[in-house]
Amino acid sequence: MPVVAVAVPVHLSRSFDYIYSDDIHIEPGMRICVPFMNKQLIGIALTTKNDSEFPLAKLKPIINILDDNAILSTDMLAFFNWCADYYHYPIGEVIAQALPVLLRKLESAKLNSYTFWQLTDRAHELTAPELNRLTPAQLQTIKLLAETGLTQSHLKLANIKSTTIKALQDKGLISQEYIEIQDNDAQHWRQNLVISDNRPSLNTEQAITIAAIDINHFATYLLDGVTGSGKTEVYLNVIEKVLKTGKQALVIVPEIGLTPQTISRFKRRFNVPIVALHSGLNDAERREAWLEAQAGVAGIVIGTRSAIFTPMHDLGVIIIDEEHDGSLKQQETFRYHARDLAIVRAHRNNIAVVLGSATPALETLHNAMTGKYRHLKLTQRAGNAQMPIHHLIDIKNQTLNSGLSTAFITLMATHLAAGNQVLLFLNRRGYAPAVMCHTCGSMAECQRCNTYYTYHQSRNILHCHHCDEQFPKPRRCPSCDSNEIITAGFGTEQLEAMLTEHFPQYPIIRIDRDSTSRKGSLEKALEAVRKREFRILIGTQMLAKGHHFPDVTLVGLIDVDSALFSSDFRAPEKLAQLFVQVSGRAGRAAKQGEVAIQTHHPGHELIQDLINNGYSHFAQTALHARSMANLPPYSFQALFRAEAHQFSEANAFLVDIKQLVQEHNHNPQLLCLGPMPAPMEKRAGKYRLQLLLQGPQRQHITQLLRLIMPKVEALKSARKARWSLDVDPTEM
Ligand code: ADP
Ligand code: ZN
Ligand code: ZN
Repeated sequence: MPVVAVAVPVHLSRSFDYIYSDDIHIEPGMRICVPFMNKQLIGIALTTKNDSEFPLAKLKPIINILDDNAILSTDMLAFFNWCADYYHYPIGEVIAQALPVLLRKLESAKLNSYTFWQLTDRAHELTAPELNRLTPAQLQTIKLLAETGLTQSHLKLANIKSTTIKALQDKGLISQEYIEIQDNDAQHWRQNLVISDNRPSLNTEQAITIAAIDINHFATYLLDGVTGSGKTEVYLNVIEKVLKTGKQALVIVPEIGLTPQTISRFKRRFNVPIVALHSGLNDAERREAWLEAQAGVAGIVIGTRSAIFTPMHDLGVIIIDEEHDGSLKQQETFRYHARDLAIVRAHRNNIAVVLGSATPALETLHNAMTGKYRHLKLTQRAGNAQMPIHHLIDIKNQTLNSGLSTAFITLMATHLAAGNQVLLFLNRRGYAPAVMCHTCGSMAECQRCNTYYTYHQSRNILHCHHCDEQFPKPRRCPSCDSNEIITAGFGTEQLEAMLTEHFPQYPIIRIDRDSTSRKGSLEKALEAVRKREFRILIGTQMLAKGHHFPDVTLVGLIDVDSALFSSDFRAPEKLAQLFVQVSGRAGRAAKQGEVAIQTHHPGHELIQDLINNGYSHFAQTALHARSMANLPPYSFQALFRAEAHQFSEANAFLVDIKQLVQEHNHNPQLLCLGPMPAPMEKRAGKYRLQLLLQGPQRQHITQLLRLIMPKVEALKSARKARWSLDVDPTEM
């Protein structure tokens, strides 16, 4: 009897064998419903064979197969296997998280047809007065469709509402055509490819860069270009080359980068169907998008990190925008890095991968220096924008008003009076990071996390940012009953309150997680900023990334001192990236920008190096420090994390792992450090510890983990702790 190995979505690092009758045809990549424990689960067939390492009599039969054909190609299966092996994560769960929710269920994976809207003959004959009677949205739709027919999802991307489509259909101005998808029929866009000629002419650096990117072979290109140097323009040109060969492009952007502006910039250039994998899609749309990518209906797929798992009909290039960005790494469950996987995937497909950034990660720069990646540089801002001027404001002994120095407030007043916008950057939301009793000094502290509560004035609550506990601010001190409860320190909410009072004539907007928790509110806020409805912008990290605000001429970094003295070895790198990215927000258009940094340590080496010598010089210095300390990229790491209600339970588990490491590791260069407390030792009542593996060769760690992981999973102490393994951790 034939046997099929199935990847089942359970947290066990192996596949499971089932028997099936030989009149059934099973291909790897088909979905199969199988019995598992007392449940029925949907898994993916990995291989078929005639034997099993288990006695055939003990194997259960499959329940049924869900697909006539494989829904995952052997190439994608091999890629998922690679991921499971490298990250030591169960293959069943790797595949499950890569599939759209509906395909994890009984839904069909067939894209039978897709709807294509086009103008009717009647629409082509509309007279001017008739056109005038249409609503602006209807007119816009007609204009879009005048160039080419578009799919429903394409119209949706252009913000055309379904009511508008319906109205035009009722008027007999547009009609829909169903296109049956046959094997070669997804080619529609390929034959009708039109590239807009409304585009800037390339500068020399851009032209050289584009010519250097060979789309026919595997290579990793680091596109190292200052903010505003026209990296996106380079991506567009590379994608154009790829589309002309009939292949597809996959573009990965940071979480915050996937704005309607980004998508519309791609759409203005190409008339190919673009699939955007964003959080606004519902399950049906996500399934559709996935299938369109796989069938080759989509020419371009844009998405955040998980889009790296999208199956593509004929992938021609992968682009990773802001390759240094932390959001490319998943920090829970399956802890993959989308940039690293992009390189693996490009290698497997023998295509180019382009990593773009103004502030490349030190790992990436190191790979460029050692010749693993090709280093392409854009050193000039495109158009005629200037680099900003930097001011260091020494706040030692200065009186501060909600954290702002007089010097900075004066600078603000000048820029505002000149009609420009000002951006203040502070990575601390809420009104104040702590509250205390003025009488006895006791601080309000979350007992479950051993951290202070943040005070949010708008809702008058104390909030623990780590375990999410919140409650109304007490009126009296629980220790001494005094009613003098005061705040300590300042956050974005307080800056907003102070500036509203100080600059009543200028409208202020605060953009942080609190003010943008509702879906779509961030987009709305950014749009309002662009329309100059606000003059003062206060934001956290959210505002640091890739937004283009031409009227912002002054950016203030309100507090950088905490990052200068962090225990995280990546903190200087992150601060430098933040500094350069935030500086990039100032004066991007024709206006000269200024950046002000408030610090108690204006002489600090890092700040001086950045300001005087720029990011790439700073990066060399930082890399040197890493090499002296044997830290990544000069070594490789894997981190076990464990948490439990009892300190001893988490500790015992990690001690057991350390024991296993010592038994199996014969390489003196491979170190096992710990168990040690995590940077946040306690969170939501649980104790958190970690154990670090570090060595000069990646393979050593991979091989050791392959040996010990089955044993780690079987440890008795593993049951008493919540634990995870993080290969190539970026947060300790
Ligand atoms: P980056 O992605 O490096 O931040 P962009 O590609 O967004 O830069 O370019 C910044 C601005 O410069 C955009 O408004 C873009 O349209 C413009 N731009 C890009 N290349 C050129 C060029 N060769 N000539 C004129 N303007 C350009
Ligand atoms: Zn008190
Ligand atoms: Zn807490």
